[in-house]
Amino acid sequence: MAAYSSLFKGVVSDENIRENEPMSRHTTFKTGGSADLMLLPTSEDELLEAVKLCSENSLPYLIIGNGSNLLVTDKGIRGVVIKLGRDFAKIDVEGNVISAQAGALLSATANAALKAELSGMEFAAGIPGTVGGAVCMNAGAYGGELKDIIKEVRVLDKDEVKTLSNTQAGFVYRGSRIMNEGMIVLSAVFELEKGSKEDIRSLMDDYSQRRRSKQPLDRPSAGSTFKRPEGDFAGRLIEAAGLKGCSIGGAKVSDKHCGFIINDGGASSTDILELIDFVRKKVYESSGVMLEPEVRIIGEL
Ligand SMILES: Cc1cc2nc3c(=O)[nH]c(=O)nc-3n(C[C@H](O)[C@H](O)[C@H](O)COP(=O)(O)OP(=O)(O)OC[C@H]3O[C@@H](n4cnc5c(N)ncnc54)[C@H](O)[C@@H]3O)c2cc1C
Repeated sequence: MAAYSSLFKGVVSDENIRENEPMSRHTTFKTGGSADLMLLPTSEDELLEAVKLCSENSLPYLIIGNGSNLLVTDKGIRGVVIKLGRDFAKIDVEGNVISAQAGALLSATANAALKAELSGMEFAAGIPGTVGGAVCMNAGAYGGELKDIIKEVRVLDKDEVKTLSNTQAGFVYRGSRIMNEGMIVLSAVFELEKGSKEDIRSLMDDYSQRRRSKQPLDRPSAGSTFKRPEGDFAGRLIEAAGLKGCSIGGAKVSDKHCGFIINDGGASSTDILELIDFVRKKVYESSGVMLEPEVRIIGEL
């Protein structure tokens, strides 16, 4: 892959082209082997050109944001990882509308809403993802989902930049047409309502307090490991199966919230994957429910 890095010279600046980049630096689980090549574009033009070069040269590529919903295998990722982060993170507020580039953190976008006294995004303030990752996943919390506040999404669909309406984006629980069809989120427009700064702040504080008291935020994880099964909660089923605190290597079912598998120190992605499989098997045996991972498992197996 080293040979290919020269393809991107002049498209993305040299310091934003990284060979054999450890993915443990780019995932909140803090695990995972290296990506052959990582690119960190700083503008839409750089991103579009980089994707075009990957396609023309038949190089597989993956777009990531903050890596807060990713489990990268220990063998790492063959191909190019394009990370949209703090250099692709412009946020603009106009009236009751906020436009944010894909690399903007949801927390920063929610804080911009607070500053502009716009309500509707409070639920998203504590989700540690980027706008791109969160739109693609239709992230949600405390009864809200991104689909409730999205007006439109600018995407790269194959080689065409398009604007999708909320309906065209095809949002479903923790997914979207954008994800299913491999589109790239470039930016999103959120439509909010005028509110009072005090009320917005107090709701954000309340959600943040609830997160701190219920979630193992002091340990690396990717949030809820499993999707919520119809009519129940993954955490409740895991606890009922007697798996609270259960561990394989450095991976552990959190004592604080059984829906979270955490890296309790020195875990490998293999430990986490084995624990995911074990939990699914045991929960199925005890309840008949087959849990589906919410974390995106990627990389060479
Ligand atoms: C402590 C903790 C708490 C969490 N709480 C919540 C919660 O309350 N609710 C919730 O929904 N999630 C939660 N999560 C999970 C995670 O934060 C969300 O899924 C988030 O939306 C992922 O965003 P990201 O930028 O980190 O995406 P990544 O993890 O980098 O990527 C996730 C997926 O999105 C794709 N993707 C990323 N960027 C783009 C883009 N620009 N265009 C197209 N595809 C893209 C990736 O290819 C991948 O398939 C939590 C995670 C942690 C660690």
